[in-house]
Amino acid sequence: MAKPTFDTPEYREFPSPPAIEEGAMEHLETYIAKPEHQEALGWAGELEEGWEQRAVDKLGDLLGKNKALRVYLDSCVKCGACTDKCHYFIGTRDPKNMPVARQDLLRSVYRRYFTLSGKLFPDLVGAKDMNKEVLDDWYKYYHQCSECRRCSVFCPYGIDTAEITMAARDIMNHIGMGQKYTNEILGKVHKIGNNLGLPGPALMDTMEGLEEDVFDDDGVAVKFPVDMHGADVLLVTPSADFFAEPHVDGLIGYGKVFHQAGISWTVSSYASEAANFALFAGSTEQMHKVARRIRKVAQEFGVKRIIFGECGHAWRVAYSFLNTLAGPFDFLDPKYPVPQHILEFTHDLINRGALALDPSANDDKVVTFHDSCNVARASRMGTKPGGQFDIPRAVIRAVVNNYVDMDPETTHEKTFCCGGGGGLLTDDLLELRVKGALPRMEALHEVVQSHGVTHMAAICAICKTQFAKVLPYYGMQMDMITSVHHLVGDAIILGGKE
Ligand code: SF4
Ligand code: SF4
Repeated sequence: MAKPTFDTPEYREFPSPPAIEEGAMEHLETYIAKPEHQEALGWAGELEEGWEQRAVDKLGDLLGKNKALRVYLDSCVKCGACTDKCHYFIGTRDPKNMPVARQDLLRSVYRRYFTLSGKLFPDLVGAKDMNKEVLDDWYKYYHQCSECRRCSVFCPYGIDTAEITMAARDIMNHIGMGQKYTNEILGKVHKIGNNLGLPGPALMDTMEGLEEDVFDDDGVAVKFPVDMHGADVLLVTPSADFFAEPHVDGLIGYGKVFHQAGISWTVSSYASEAANFALFAGSTEQMHKVARRIRKVAQEFGVKRIIFGECGHAWRVAYSFLNTLAGPFDFLDPKYPVPQHILEFTHDLINRGALALDPSANDDKVVTFHDSCNVARASRMGTKPGGQFDIPRAVIRAVVNNYVDMDPETTHEKTFCCGGGGGLLTDDLLELRVKGALPRMEALHEVVQSHGVTHMAAICAICKTQFAKVLPYYGMQMDMITSVHHLVGDAIILGGKE
């Protein structure tokens, strides 16, 4: 691992609001998208004369379309309840990473152009002209927010900073100052079908390789089909599942579950990506375009249901928006929810006794669970409130004998972001990612010390990649992070060796 050029924060004995360090993250700016990546998405290639007015016009456009945005910008009373709730503020100490300060970056421009007091007495109400200095602050600090929504849980008015961040990013994309990481990835999805730019033949090779691996390990011919017309299930999963560790073991787990349940399934080489980075870019148009790929193949293949693999923001987009973005899905079997999460599917099979499981296969582990923020605070699973917390835990408890939760102040709806969500999982933001992981690392470290936890399971591709990267900075092993369906896959009894 390359030597870090920053200090990893130290574990705090009594976690408390950190001392402020003005400008601590002023130096960190993620790479700006190249003109060709911007233009491929229909946005200005770079800042051009008159961008200030175009930014204000775009804000006006968003205020007209999104009433909540105006309410969020109008209703903050500066009570301070959110200030110490953001993992990036906790880890970096930069006061501009306090959620209320982050909101104010956009709020000050909103006040200047869209409120009477801001037009008449800008200095009195903290209103600011749209200028390069303001834009530079937007670019830095709206790319130090993972859109995790933890702060909104603590806000008495329910102000959603993530929505404000998305609006700011939408405006920046529009005027030609988008982020390289997110926008390059969006371009790959449109062109090739997945974030990684993995073409169809490579995907087929990968899936064939998994069939061989499972056969070698278990002696059972578990299929990993690609583009199989007529399958019952279209599995839409993050492309990291196709080969990255620890994700791929989760995909092997899904395959074993489908095999054991006797349900035919397939992935698609055209819609080979569950992730929808347009959410991070704040672009409804782009989100729509990515989601339509899924509808197209579901129709072409004639599947009965669509199941999403382990990916946090993908599930948020799917659960909250898929029907609006790409519906109606009236060609699917109405017996099943649209969409369905792989954990709902596996949980249902477990409840019906349809899977033979041996949890002692995981007896070498003491497991804890990291609630991913987009699942925890922006979606649900099952039919009961809180299903997004209970179902993953019920599945884990069915396949492991040793499970322990982390500090309740850091789980369920109060969960801390892994530090790499919201389009920040790029190495040019590594310092932010490591520092932002501090609260989760502290909670994990605590159960490692007190209960001998050896593994942390997660159901998000970003969380898994992020933790594999940052765990060593906190003195823990990168392979502590695992997929929930890895645990499931190891516990399934496939019928013995042939
Ligand atoms: S949404 Fe998450 S990352 Fe953004 S300000 Fe709130 S707590 Fe911080
Ligand atoms: S908790 Fe809500 S109202 Fe209070 S300062 Fe934060 S955003 Fe404003």
